Amino acid sequence: NLWSECWCCESAMLLLQLVAQGQLDMEGALTARDRVGIQDFVLLDETTEAAFLSNLKKRFSKDLIYTYIGTLLVSVNPYKELDIYNKKQMDIYMGVNFFELPPHIYALADNAYHTMLTEFNNHFILISGESGAGKTEASKKILQYYAVSCPSTTLLNTVRDKMLMSNPVLEAFGNAKTLKNDNSSRFGKYMDIQFDSQGDAVGGHILNYLLEKSRVVHQNHGERNFHIFYQLVEGGSDDLLHQLGLERGCQHYNYLTQGQCPIVPSINDKNDWKTVKNALQIISFDETHLFEVIASVLHLGNVRFDSDSKGHALLNNNTELHWLLGVDAHRLQEGLTFRKIEAKKDQVLSPFTTDHAIYARDALAKAIYGQTFTWLVNRINEMCFYTCFIYLIIFMKPANLPFTSSLILSLSFEQFCINYCNEKLQQLFIELTLKSEQEEYEAEGIEWEPVQFFNNKIICDLIEEKHTGIISLLDEECLRPGDATDLTFLERLEEKMGNHPHFVTHKLADKMTRKTLERGDFRLLHYAGEVTYCVVGFLDKNNDLLYRNIKDLMCQSKNDIVKECFSSMDPDSRRRPETVVTQFKSSLQKLTEILVAKEAWYIRCLKSNESKQSGQFDEALIRHQVKYLGLMEHLRVRRAGFAYRRKYDVFLKRYKPLCPATWPHWRGVAADGVEVLVQHLGYLPDEYKMGRTKIFIRHPRTLFATEDAYEK
Ligand code: ATP
Ligand code: MG
Repeated sequence: NLWSECWCCESAMLLLQLVAQGQLDMEGALTARDRVGIQDFVLLDETTEAAFLSNLKKRFSKDLIYTYIGTLLVSVNPYKELDIYNKKQMDIYMGVNFFELPPHIYALADNAYHTMLTEFNNHFILISGESGAGKTEASKKILQYYAVSCPSTTLLNTVRDKMLMSNPVLEAFGNAKTLKNDNSSRFGKYMDIQFDSQGDAVGGHILNYLLEKSRVVHQNHGERNFHIFYQLVEGGSDDLLHQLGLERGCQHYNYLTQGQCPIVPSINDKNDWKTVKNALQIISFDETHLFEVIASVLHLGNVRFDSDSKGHALLNNNTELHWLLGVDAHRLQEGLTFRKIEAKKDQVLSPFTTDHAIYARDALAKAIYGQTFTWLVNRINEMCFYTCFIYLIIFMKPANLPFTSSLILSLSFEQFCINYCNEKLQQLFIELTLKSEQEEYEAEGIEWEPVQFFNNKIICDLIEEKHTGIISLLDEECLRPGDATDLTFLERLEEKMGNHPHFVTHKLADKMTRKTLERGDFRLLHYAGEVTYCVVGFLDKNNDLLYRNIKDLMCQSKNDIVKECFSSMDPDSRRRPETVVTQFKSSLQKLTEILVAKEAWYIRCLKSNESKQSGQFDEALIRHQVKYLGLMEHLRVRRAGFAYRRKYDVFLKRYKPLCPATWPHWRGVAADGVEVLVQHLGYLPDEYKMGRTKIFIRHPRTLFATEDAYEK
């Protein structure tokens, strides 16, 4: 009885268990709601932001970092190790219905997995949140859960090991210390795990996009380069360092010291080096060439140029560089100090100034590192297999959206791309939840009070519309021969976007706003708030050009990795390669196409405070995130709506044994059969609605009770 009485109190099952274990008496059970807050926001008494935050805070103070909004999981970063990620916990969650236990990331992972197997369809989990909110950690927890909980065979164990091991490698090469996060992922990542019809994991695949390559040659104050460099120079054996011509300690390398924080208390480079090396061995890489590449980047950073009497660049000698890269010393020197210009049939060498030479050097370092990263991801993918059912785990770079715009410096090209990506993901979220949900009610003729939400399509269009969007204008400027610069790009924007409600620049702004904008800035009103971008570097980073002679030289390298990477860069050397932002746009397009065809699960990660402290709940910061992640809108739609819906025939086929009138066959229309069936099961009138093709069920408990009866 308590089961059915208490379902309105969402923790009934948990409480029952605790009562059974003697840990709680019945009175305790009834007050637990006050003590630990509510596990599913849908059951909150009111849907105000204040009530939402207060519940979140209450739970956070008890180390309950997970809370549901229906099937969406909200997670607040605790910044401390919690004892909730062990085998025992995994066992508890395995195969249990979603709402029967306290919210947990394992519950979401498990339910996605089981739904995939019972309904034979593809799913994805989208993890989002700002930098440091806990996306990477969440994705690791999910992988670990699958590694332990999915059925396995010996062969598959190797597959699994490799997938788990690829994580430290990717983190070493793709993560770095930033101001916001000591282990910040500087690339977007999507990963899928492939299962066969038995539920065995048979493969996996990782796609990476937009590694923040500029970090290789430049780091802001308080930030570091990618972890792997520090791991190598701190942890590498004497022999290895000697072989690579490196000295121990990052202080010797220009590319490692710009941020002036080589030592980070939370990071142990020496230990991490061991882990990475071990992982590289398990996924069986030939590391020699890989380390040579890493070392060559460090050597490149130390290359200096003097200038001769005419102001032309001269290279100071670096004896290791050419053999690490496996290329001819003289040609490398030439490539870094001259540009080859093809005039009709002749080739003319035009000398660089020192500035130009530094630019060419940095461009090479970025290209080597960026290509090697892609190569690494491809190698990891090669170990992976074939597809039966695809199951996706995805997580993306977050918005680097400022908390309050005035405090934050203007952002650069990379952040523009990342925020564009976030707009697209938000659009997808709107399409898949808010919009489609409401459209479905309409299509099915279900009575419904519409929930208002902001549709960010207008911003997506501003950025990506053909011919008139920011991306098109940027590409046009990049391809325009002659005098195009970052500032002419800004002028083009001003011409075209003049009075767009989501776009402003110094010139276009009113007096008040003008004070907050520099001349080289433009400001976008993203769905999550205002962000100011500085146009400096936009053209250059978007072009991402490497001088032809250097590229050709690298294609002839004796280092297999370098050779492979550069040869695959653009096979048709006469064609101009696609710009960075256009490549990014098409990969986002592909991603969206993949995703819309799948069933979505969402994890929204919230950052509890800016100072990475445990136990601190910064209410203003969290309110901001709740707002821009659209959690309140999601809650309202969820609350007003129906948790489950099933096509009549599907529903009837599964549950017809529960009613004598529908078993073994219902001879009439499926909808009528369902009506008879649910009447027989005692569904209350408020609990379900009959649409045109589907039955809609308000609470998960109703479906679970039916499912339980079916199991019995
Ligand atoms: P970025 O976008 O910068 O990559 P992120 O969202 O991936 O950020 P994480 O690297 O996952 O952030 O988390 C940042 C840090 O927060 C972790 O290194 C860890 O210290 C802490 N953290 C995150 N999630 C948890 C958790 N569930 N339990 C304990 N600590 C956590
Ligand atoms: Mg991360």
